[in-house]
Amino acid sequence: MMPIRLGLQARFMLAMLATLLVVVALALALWQRQSQTFRELTQLSAESVHELTFDELARRGGAMAAQLADRLVNPIYYLDLDRIGEFAAATRSQPDVAYVLVYDPQGRIIHDGTRNIVSYGEPVVGLPAPDPETDSAALIQWGSGVMDATHAVVLGDERIGGVRIGFSLKALQAQQARAQAQLAQRQEQATYTYRLWLAGLLGLLLILASGLSLLVSRGMVGPIRMLAEAARHVEAGRYRQIALESGRRDEMGALIRAFSRMSDSVERHERDVRRMAYTDALTGLPNRLALRELLDLKLIHQHADGQGLALLFIDLDDFKRVNDTLGHEAGDRVLVRVAERIRDSARLIADGNVQVARFGGDEFVAVVESEEPRLRAARVADAVIEALLEPVHVGGRDLFLGSSIGITVFPDDAGSTSQLIKNGDIAMYQAKLSGKACYRFYSRVMDDAMADRVQLEHDLRGALERHELRLYYQPVVSTHDGSLHGMEALLRWEHPQRGLIMPAAFVEVAEQCGLITPIGAYALEQACRDTMAIAAACPSAANLFVSVNVSARQLRSGDLVEVVSHAIARTGLPASRLRVELTETALLGDEVLAGALLSRLRGIGVRVWLDDFGTGFSGLSHLRRVPVDGVKIDRSFVADLLDDPDDLALTTAIIALAHSLGIGVVAEGVEDVEQLRVLARHGCDLAQGFLVARPMPASVLIDWVQRRPVLVA
Ligand code: C2E
Ligand code: CA
Ligand code: CA
Repeated sequence: MMPIRLGLQARFMLAMLATLLVVVALALALWQRQSQTFRELTQLSAESVHELTFDELARRGGAMAAQLADRLVNPIYYLDLDRIGEFAAATRSQPDVAYVLVYDPQGRIIHDGTRNIVSYGEPVVGLPAPDPETDSAALIQWGSGVMDATHAVVLGDERIGGVRIGFSLKALQAQQARAQAQLAQRQEQATYTYRLWLAGLLGLLLILASGLSLLVSRGMVGPIRMLAEAARHVEAGRYRQIALESGRRDEMGALIRAFSRMSDSVERHERDVRRMAYTDALTGLPNRLALRELLDLKLIHQHADGQGLALLFIDLDDFKRVNDTLGHEAGDRVLVRVAERIRDSARLIADGNVQVARFGGDEFVAVVESEEPRLRAARVADAVIEALLEPVHVGGRDLFLGSSIGITVFPDDAGSTSQLIKNGDIAMYQAKLSGKACYRFYSRVMDDAMADRVQLEHDLRGALERHELRLYYQPVVSTHDGSLHGMEALLRWEHPQRGLIMPAAFVEVAEQCGLITPIGAYALEQACRDTMAIAAACPSAANLFVSVNVSARQLRSGDLVEVVSHAIARTGLPASRLRVELTETALLGDEVLAGALLSRLRGIGVRVWLDDFGTGFSGLSHLRRVPVDGVKIDRSFVADLLDDPDDLALTTAIIALAHSLGIGVVAEGVEDVEQLRVLARHGCDLAQGFLVARPMPASVLIDWVQRRPVLVA
């Protein structure tokens, strides 16, 4: 059974009721007692009245009988009936006297006071036996309606007769009844007054009790209930529903006001805490936590009203470079600008139906609501990408940052917040793979690609320690006489299950997860070491250079010069025989810094070459501003050299420009003799490609060099 819980008011009422009941019971008892007393009193007074009147009658009767007996001594002795009749009649005429009997010693009536003595000779009924002891006193006998006073008539010692006077009790009884009626009336009156008083008292008590309970209820229970209700609202965070006001000037009023102030301050505090917990301190945008809650809420809503929702996962391209090269303070400033641009451009396109949050680091998320979420999201993505392509001006420099965006749509792609964010991330990664500065819609196929990538990254982490990474070398020869000048070191991964993996499949992954730093350092040192070994094995190859690819991330890590110096120092390769190949795009963004780095590299004697030249969007004029030793014409130009006049024109221009700047040119991907001839004719000095040789391990290269008829330069 549920325990019955009693409220304060109920308890107070109960106590009140109990008190009232006790009072009523007491009053009833008093009443009872009073009635009893009245009854007893009536009884007593009736008795005493009775006693008084009847005793009086008995005494009078006795005296009258004694007097008559005394007077009748002589008449009876002489049997003087006239005298007897005279006395008897005189007595009979007395008030209340009903009859008078004078009798002889045998108890026979000799006179009854009447004229012709009607009952003469009849015996007197109920006479006691003669007793000389009591002869001198009257005998009183009570009958119904009468009292008999009997007295013996004595002469000397002899009883000569007796008298009996009968008194009628009628008058007496009537008097007594009157007296009693009067008494009863008085008593009734008294009882009535008493009851009136009692009832009045009880009524007063009742009014007092209800007044008191009303007072307690309004003064205590009401406010306490109000406070309890308010406390429940505070607990549930429904501050708006709290209405605490009191004009009371007592302690309760003070309590209510104090409570109201307290709930205000709790609300303020909670608001601050929420704001802090849900806002990204740097950009002022909602943070990851806020985003998750917002999405959770929206998904429920959207589900209900059938509207679509798209999530844009925005990641800055190359943001880490800013942090690495300019410091975190500049990085923060860039993020603030970027956040503003994302928010403003997204809002402009999405008509305000968009929420932008900072997901963390250089990742932002925009949530777009629309009836056509795909269309709207694509437009927003375009706008954001365009806005972020504009250079960001920080610390007197123009920084070029791109952004890659993954888009996923609810409810088509996912039903939960976590899944939606994950999809956005996957799609964003695909956008990066597709060349950055673009957006991609999530598709389920991406999941497999993602799983593959995750596996690859996992395997790559231990590849260096397990010695699965190898360097292959591709010879670089003169276009004029085919003499060997050097070689390019190219990474290969000998995967235990998948076999030989080409760099295109894993270098990007290594760059993204940061593994390129140790791998790049390994490649640099190993290339130097192998070159020394090749030189040692073939005296003719003593002066060959080795070209090592360096990724943008290595360049930005800041210690590239140290890593290079270290490799040279440990292997003993002269610095002049080491070339580092950097892509144009690696230099983009912050030319001043990149230029300083390249100068330092060249300062220690290492040559710097620009790889894949012509594919970047910086244009040829760019070359004038960066200090390099040579350029490598991208193999895409070489491939179409013979068919595409544009490519031929560009290739010739690059060669001419390089010559005018006094730097070297290498043509990549030369696959047939005709390409080589054209390149040679236009003055390209060096070439590499399958025509000459495919990349091969150092040991194979030694063999290749030794068996080669053409001279080494
Ligand atoms: P890359 O620097 O442009 O390297 C030249 C690529 O062209 C090599 O591909 C090479 O095998 C290929 N190649 C050479 N001759 C021909 C030809 O006649 N025809 C065709 N179709 N291709 C030819 P590989 O070895 O697959 O390397 C791909 C890319 O991976 C490299 O492009 C380079 O960017 C990167 N890479 C390779 N090794 C390293 C490394 O140690 N560090 C870094 N950061 N990147 C590396
Ligand atoms: Ca290269
Ligand atoms: Ca290249």
